[in-house]
Amino acid sequence: MKILAVMMLASIVTIRGQIPMTEKNSYDILIKHGTIIDGSGAPGFKADVLVKDQKIVLISDVDTSLISAHRTIDATGKVVTPGFIDHHAHGDPLKTPEFKNFSAMGVTTIFLGQDGESSDHIAEWMSQVEAAQTAINIGSYVGHGSVRNQAGVKLDPSPSYWARRKMATLVDEALEAGCFGLSTGLEYQPGSFSKINELITLAKPVGKRGGVVSSHTRNEDDEAVQNSIAELITQGAGGGCAVNISHLKVVYGHGADRAEAILQQMEAAREEGISITADMYPYQASYTGIGIVFPDWAKPPYNYEQVVAARRDELATYLRERIQRRNGPEATLFGTAPWAGKTLTQVALELGKPFEDVLIDDIGPKGASAAYFVMDQELQDRLFLDPFIMTCSDGSPTMRHPRGYGSFAKVIRYYVNETKLLNIEQAVYKMSGLPAKTVGLVEQHRGLLKAGFAADILVFDPDAIEDAASFENPHELARGFDWVIVNGAVVRGEGEFTGKRPGKMLRKS
Ligand SMILES: [Zn+2]
Repeated sequence: MKILAVMMLASIVTIRGQIPMTEKNSYDILIKHGTIIDGSGAPGFKADVLVKDQKIVLISDVDTSLISAHRTIDATGKVVTPGFIDHHAHGDPLKTPEFKNFSAMGVTTIFLGQDGESSDHIAEWMSQVEAAQTAINIGSYVGHGSVRNQAGVKLDPSPSYWARRKMATLVDEALEAGCFGLSTGLEYQPGSFSKINELITLAKPVGKRGGVVSSHTRNEDDEAVQNSIAELITQGAGGGCAVNISHLKVVYGHGADRAEAILQQMEAAREEGISITADMYPYQASYTGIGIVFPDWAKPPYNYEQVVAARRDELATYLRERIQRRNGPEATLFGTAPWAGKTLTQVALELGKPFEDVLIDDIGPKGASAAYFVMDQELQDRLFLDPFIMTCSDGSPTMRHPRGYGSFAKVIRYYVNETKLLNIEQAVYKMSGLPAKTVGLVEQHRGLLKAGFAADILVFDPDAIEDAASFENPHELARGFDWVIVNGAVVRGEGEFTGKRPGKMLRKS
């Protein structure tokens, strides 16, 4: 393996810039006359790209009379970028290995195992993903909640020293198997039961192996979000590892002030030597289980029926106030049967009762998932423009939210084309170079357009990019990504799927 890599490098060096006159070189793909946006944030430049054996071998002016290419792509008037990296995604590669929703919006690598949830048998699962032959590359985090369950800690708020040791060993083994870090879901059970000493204990093996703790933080509400971020920073400092805020948002916050405060908080942590980033999706609605609006005292280990019987009025008041705070019942849009596509207002009207009674009697804390229109555009925009914040979808092929089909296209359409808040180089950096750097993919020669790097490549006209998915039709594929190349194989050509599945299971080296 090592020798091969060295030989390949030698051949790149000999042809770099100047193709030897003596032999007809043959390549898999030639992309000619495009503007190269290399994913580092550097200004675009005109050049051709040569691909061979799954790798980019040359980015330069190519004298086409001196080479032959199995396929030539004319990128005149278009940009050539690295394939996009979705740092926080959901979905089951064993069920939907094609992941068309992702590749259609230019995503060639996704990271799963998010929000504290991953497979209990990571190494085995990775082999299964490999056998399933996905169309795009898959990386994974190991989930804190899953580790808690596996270690038998479950909902215990004070695990013993030995239980914490057991969890730390499981985290270490998962990283050894190739996970890129630890994900937490502190707003969900069982992660919500953990305290900072446990979080630091589990961050230590992550720090030791140069991984990342990526966290769905404890509470994203306006008045609580900065305390939640502070907890993550403390975890990173204690564990000696990089930290990332998953799907950064401020629930029912308004205006740019909170955004400025959060960005200053992150900057202050960086000055203390803690590497901190965040990922975000470009929508003002979140999506998760309806349990998010229920109080802890109505969830396990408490028996829901007993809670309703004993504390019904209190629960009704809690739900009424919490939903009102979250922009009212019309701001909750159900995504699961039998209410998919209807708001809580509509369901309450149909059932002829107050919305809090619908939540208590007809749905319950586990009875539905929904989109919640709880975010402020000005606030979220300010966060998104920060250079340490990358793009994610937090979406999946099946979730009823447009983010799983539109996020990366919307970043180009909204931030680059319409508002011009970002230029194309900055946007592409947020979607490739930054996530690659964050998780350590650059060391594996992925995430940038550079000779010697994996040939995950997009060719498109930025002006033609459309995010077609909406809350009404959340499963419309994005349009405009003419060529999507994964490990040197064309997954989408001239806007059509080829059926090829060249994705790899990525493992942290
Ligand atoms: Zn989450």
